[in-house]
Amino acid sequence: LTAIASLPAAILLAATPATPVTPAPPPAHRQVLPADASARLVGAALEGHAYDRLVELADTVGPRLAGSPGAAAAVNWAARRLRDDGFQVKLEPVRVPHWVRGVERAEVVGVGAAGSMPLAVTALGGSPGTPAGGVEGEVLEVKSLDELRALGARAKGKIVLFQHEMDSGKTGYGEASPLRGRGPAEAAKAGAVAALVRSLATSSLRSPHTGTTSFPAGGPRLPAAAIATEDADLLHRLAARGPVKVKLLLGCGPGSPPEVESANVVAEIHGRERPDEIVVIGAHLDSWDLAQGAVDDGAGVAMVMETLRIARALRIAPRRTLRAVLFMNEEHGLSGGVAYAEQHRAELSRHVAALEADSGAGRPVAAGTNAGPAGEALLRRLIAPLAGLGVTSVVSVRGGGADISPLAYERVPHAAVRQDTARYFDVHHSAADTVDKVDRAELAQATAAFAILAFGLAESEEALPRPEAPKEEPWWK
Ligand SMILES: [Zn+2]
Repeated sequence: LTAIASLPAAILLAATPATPVTPAPPPAHRQVLPADASARLVGAALEGHAYDRLVELADTVGPRLAGSPGAAAAVNWAARRLRDDGFQVKLEPVRVPHWVRGVERAEVVGVGAAGSMPLAVTALGGSPGTPAGGVEGEVLEVKSLDELRALGARAKGKIVLFQHEMDSGKTGYGEASPLRGRGPAEAAKAGAVAALVRSLATSSLRSPHTGTTSFPAGGPRLPAAAIATEDADLLHRLAARGPVKVKLLLGCGPGSPPEVESANVVAEIHGRERPDEIVVIGAHLDSWDLAQGAVDDGAGVAMVMETLRIARALRIAPRRTLRAVLFMNEEHGLSGGVAYAEQHRAELSRHVAALEADSGAGRPVAAGTNAGPAGEALLRRLIAPLAGLGVTSVVSVRGGGADISPLAYERVPHAAVRQDTARYFDVHHSAADTVDKVDRAELAQATAAFAILAFGLAESEEALPRPEAPKEEPWWK
């Protein structure tokens, strides 16, 4: 089999309950359908039910930061809906941090007719709070971790402001994100009293964009917040006039208890010929707390759930097992992805591919894999049914998503649908990540592409070559 366009009729099975625990009984009979499976998958995906799922998750569960009641409700919601769709569901334990946001306020003091001006800030996940009266300090602007290190003792007592050029398009998310992830810890080491990180955003209406920051265990910590790009610019302009003073008040910090038990939600369609060979399709169920997480990653959750739902509705079971994993806690430490890799270590050599939908709700533009030229050639054949959606090219990618990144250490190949992400970082991790940013038709097209890629990999005789394991040490160890 080289393209899912020619999926044999044998993959069209009578409906049998899929189960992740015990092998499904053999189907009572094999249904032979004349029409090809891929056209049916695409047609079903284009009906657009993924959008309805997403709206239900966003509007009835809402924000679902790992460790929060919203995250627990999301686990229950996903399990219930998958069961409604006819799947057996397994909840696999994941320990997650419990961090809570509190009051958050900042102002630049000693300026303007009123003597101060408010700044739009939001705490970074994992940040400790300030003392009840807040912290005050002179702003020290830096553009890189190296620049901060070079300043040495001059950072002592300051509020370090990390600037970058992501919103002007000169810097990508990958280049800017270490400033948010590691900058505050570096600032603390240098003796700063707080850190502000210019929002990692491509657009802003003074909406700060949060994200996680980490402090090495036992090292110094400080209150850290994202600041709206407009206000980072304000501080920059004011600095040209003289020293700038900011006052920051954050009520965030560890919840009680500081860690809680949560779960990855797992369901699968049992493979009809090689059930012990697995294609994982994933997305993350958690979101940041500022909004509904419609784009990040409600859209991906909907794509994964819809892929399973339509396959079952169409009575399609591929050669290998197709396993959906809705990961808990991508955003605040990746503990769901790490837990999955640990709990399934014994079968990772039989994981033939992993796909994660965590690039928003935009239309599909290409497919990608890290499995090298032979893998790209296989994907090119698999995406043939997507030509009508404009998906005709395959690109080389370094990785397919954060939650599946631990699987790379066991050489599980990644495949991905590349989506239009031009607007993704406008709303990512901000209060603006709401359902209205999602286009029903584009999400449906992305779902169709995801389903075709997933089923193609689960059906293809040929498997993706297994790439070399990453050379870097796993960062979570
Ligand atoms: Zn995400």
